[in-house]
Amino acid sequence: MFKCRACNEDYMIEDTSIVPICQSCEATQPWIVQGYDDTLTKDLLYEGPILLMFTATWCNPCQKMKPLIRQLAEEYAGKLKVIFADVEVSQKLSQSDEIAALPTILVGRGGTAGKFDEIFMGLVNIEKIRESITNVK
Ligand SMILES: [Zn+2]
Repeated sequence: MFKCRACNEDYMIEDTSIVPICQSCEATQPWIVQGYDDTLTKDLLYEGPILLMFTATWCNPCQKMKPLIRQLAEEYAGKLKVIFADVEVSQKLSQSDEIAALPTILVGRGGTAGKFDEIFMGLVNIEKIRESITNVK
């Protein structure tokens, strides 16, 4: 159960493949999903702005960036899908060439013709990430 940002009622997420909406007042909620080896392909089919972040529990910069990314998910509720992938859990994903450091944050558009426009590594100024989300075409 989650608390709605607008009406404070509890809401449930039944399907992580659609934008979460409060069942009481229909306000859009932050869209944060966990990316796993066997679900990521499907998660990336969303035809809109996506932020994919590779993290690990032992990675300190990851723990610093994560709350900031959660904040962006709040800010862009209904407009941005945030996917967190733990490299320890999703080992197949983490072998991708793009991940040379942690955290690695990719921003771009999903969908069959989607692509990531920007890659951020390590501790990054959140303004740069915000700008890159705004620039997703
Ligand atoms: Zn509500």
